[in-house]
Parts: sequence; structure tokens; C-alpha cells
Amino acid sequence: MTPRAGYTDRSRAAGEIAFRQVTGRRIRDTRAHMRTHKTPAASATALCLLLVAIPAAGLVDYHIEREARSAHTGAADILRRLAADDFMGRDNLTEGSELAQEYLVPILQEIGPGLVSATVYRQPFPDGTNLLAIIPGRELPDEYVIVGGHYDHHGFSDDPVDGDDILNGATDNAAGAAAAATIGRAIRELPEAPRRSVIIALWDTEEDGLLGADYYVKNPLVPIEQTAAYINFDILGQNLTPALARTTFSIGAETGGPALQELVIEATRDENGSGRGVDLDVVEFSYIFGQGRSDYAPFVAAGVPTVFFSDANGPCWHTVDDENEIVDFEKFESQVRLAFRVAVRLAEQEDRLPYVPLNPNLATYEDAVGLLPVLQRAKADIGLFSLDSQDFIRTSSADITQMVADGPDAFDGTDVGVVLAVAADAQTRIQADLPCVPMFPVAKRSPVGPPRRGFGDTARRVIDTRVPRRLPRR
Ligand SMILES: [Zn+2]
Repeated sequence: MTPRAGYTDRSRAAGEIAFRQVTGRRIRDTRAHMRTHKTPAASATALCLLLVAIPAAGLVDYHIEREARSAHTGAADILRRLAADDFMGRDNLTEGSELAQEYLVPILQEIGPGLVSATVYRQPFPDGTNLLAIIPGRELPDEYVIVGGHYDHHGFSDDPVDGDDILNGATDNAAGAAAAATIGRAIRELPEAPRRSVIIALWDTEEDGLLGADYYVKNPLVPIEQTAAYINFDILGQNLTPALARTTFSIGAETGGPALQELVIEATRDENGSGRGVDLDVVEFSYIFGQGRSDYAPFVAAGVPTVFFSDANGPCWHTVDDENEIVDFEKFESQVRLAFRVAVRLAEQEDRLPYVPLNPNLATYEDAVGLLPVLQRAKADIGLFSLDSQDFIRTSSADITQMVADGPDAFDGTDVGVVLAVAADAQTRIQADLPCVPMFPVAKRSPVGPPRRGFGDTARRVIDTRVPRRLPRR
């Protein structure tokens, strides 16, 4: 493994010592270096040198990991506030949207200057208003990593339930906007700025067809060709089924090549190894699994390496019950910490990732390998599904098992069709069959706030007639 960029051997070793004090473990890429300092005398000498070397060291793993552990701070508060009833579903060009902007702009002001100009955070366009702040980079201020998610949602439902007609969009996407803003604040807490600039982008009008992100890409405030990477959030803190409560998805990282995919795996390993929150099961899927249905799509189309973090559309999607009570805050906070690590490493690493064009075959054998354990885990919840869906789960699980057993050389166009159909069908069946209720697993640590309702609450309403199916976007 190549060393992380931008710091000297001495400062790396200093970082390692500090890292071990915090984590009790080693930084993986400096083991060989540390072996040269294993005698007590040599270690003492090294430590003296290192303490001198720390101030100009750049961001070492220790800094990133130390900050990562509290990088979620305040995220749940922002999520809860954005999803509160008085923001009226944050529909674009409404009073609720204006109130949400008035709440979000001061948070962006804490993060850094506006991107439109130093004091201007709003990028208005005919259908809404994007909100953007920048943290100028330490060494490469003219290269940019954008961290974003949409803050708009659908406003009011035509189909009230028990008098509630507000589409709060807590997981979709108060959570994603809160994640992006919180990561911006956490980056400001680092001892120095990352090498590249980081832009925090809160998009408007995603729900009407990615209009805010699309407008930005067509009218960028910094050059798209200088945009090194884009991290997108849409639907976080959400669980598809109880057995899949710890499952979440990283979509499209192949657009940054194996290095971006590996970065997500490393960040997952670090988050799960931190002893905080929950152990996330991050499944990496190709771009196509997000169906181009979130703000990541315009960036990929513009040739920007992109990763899209999502929990996918579950039973509460686009219903009046996508509210704070169904948010899995422990999972959400782990997701924020994980994505913070990815964002900082992208901004700090020596070389920009290359953009890798989309796979014309759409899906890969690795997608089948990723899908298999998702289906296998879903079997634990098979009793929650209709008989028809139970058949589907058994059959598709057997099909994908065989596909994986046949190996990558046998993976062909037919298999691509099967994998995509199974993934899409599974999501549709989850929405159709399962009620919108909190789906927290039996927690090893207590969740943030008690679940309001659980499975077996027969008073729960069936969801899928409440919101017109025509709503096209996440
Ligand atoms: Zn969304």
C-alpha cells in the first residue's frame, strides 16, 4: 500500500505514535517504518524529532481518525430540525424551503466562505436555490472535493394520514443534507485544512429531477475539470428490513477506479474498528444500481469521480411517515463518520483519482457477489413478506448463489439482466409488502431515542397508496 500523501516520514511516525495512543492499533502503511525505531533509545530519539516535526506535518492518519470519531457531532440535531413539521416538507420555491435555507445558511457560514462570493451562499436558479460553502485547500486550493446532498423534499401529500399531510423527508434527505453540513463542520475542526478545497453543497429541487445539481454542473462556480471528486448522500439512517438494518450502499465508486472503491472499504474498516456506533455493512454497487436517480448522476456525466452513499428506497420512502421517529440515528452517525473519512482522504491524498468511464455492460460479477449476502440476510425477515415475495426471495437467492458459484468468467449479459432485475424487484417488494415502522435491530448499544413503534403493531397503516406513484425521484 502506498503511503498517504503529503507528510514526511518523521511526521508520519509521530502521527502513528499518537494514533496508537488513541486507537491502540497501528496505522497500516507505516509498519515497516516503525520497525526501524523499535529499540527504546531509538524510539526516544524519534519521538523528540517527531514532536518538533508535527506542526507542519499536514494531516496524518492520526488527525483524520481522531476527528472522525466525533465527526457526527450535531448531525442528528440538523436532521431533526430539517425534518420538523414547520419546514413544511421543504418543497422548492415555497415558504418551507425559504425557512430551511434560513436555517442552513448560518451553518454554512460556520464552515467557510460562500462559494458564489465570500458572503453569498445561495446559488438561485429558476426552480430553486442551491446552498454552497467552501473550505479553501491548504496546498491545492484550485482543486475541489464536493460533498453534497439535496435538502428539498415534496412538501405536502395529497393523501393525508390521520391528519398528517407533511412529507417531512427525514431520511430523504434531511439526513443527507445534515451529513454534508456536519462533515463540513468536522473538517473545520481538523488542525489544518486538507490539501484540496472542500465544497459543501446542499442541492435544491432534486425531487423534481435533480434540477439543482444539474444546474450547478451546467453553471459551475468552480471549474468542473478542477473538481477532483463528488460525494453524494441521498437517504441515510434508513433500514430496508430489520435484518438489513446495518446494510448500506456505496454506489458508483468505480468512477474513481479501484482506488476510490478501496478508499470506501478502508473508511468502513476504520469506522467499524473504532468501537463507536454500529458495525456498518457497506455493499459496493456499480453506478447503475442508483438508477441515475440522485444528484450523483450529473457529476458522473460530467466526468467527475463520484461515490453515492444511500440506504436505498425503503417502506417509508415518499410517505408522510418518513419522519424523525423512523430514523436509525446510530446508523446515521456511523455513516457520517465513515463519509468524513472518505471526504478528507480524497481532499488530502497526493494524486487526484482518474475518472473511469461507466461500464458499458452496466453491472459486474462483483455486483452479484455484493447482492448475494443482501438476499441471504433478507431471508431472516422472509415472514414479513407476501407469499409471492417469499418465493421471489428464495428463487432469486438461489439464482444469484449459482451465478456467484459459476465464477466471473461465466458472468454474461443475461446475468447482468438478472442481477439488475433482482435488485430493482427486491426494492419494489420491500416498499409494497413492509409497513413503515422503525426497524432497529436488537442493539448492542442503546439507540438514540426509543423506537416509537415496532413490528407487530397492527394499528400500523399500509403505506403505498399514500403518495402517488408518479413521484419520480428519491
Ligand atoms: Zn432524495
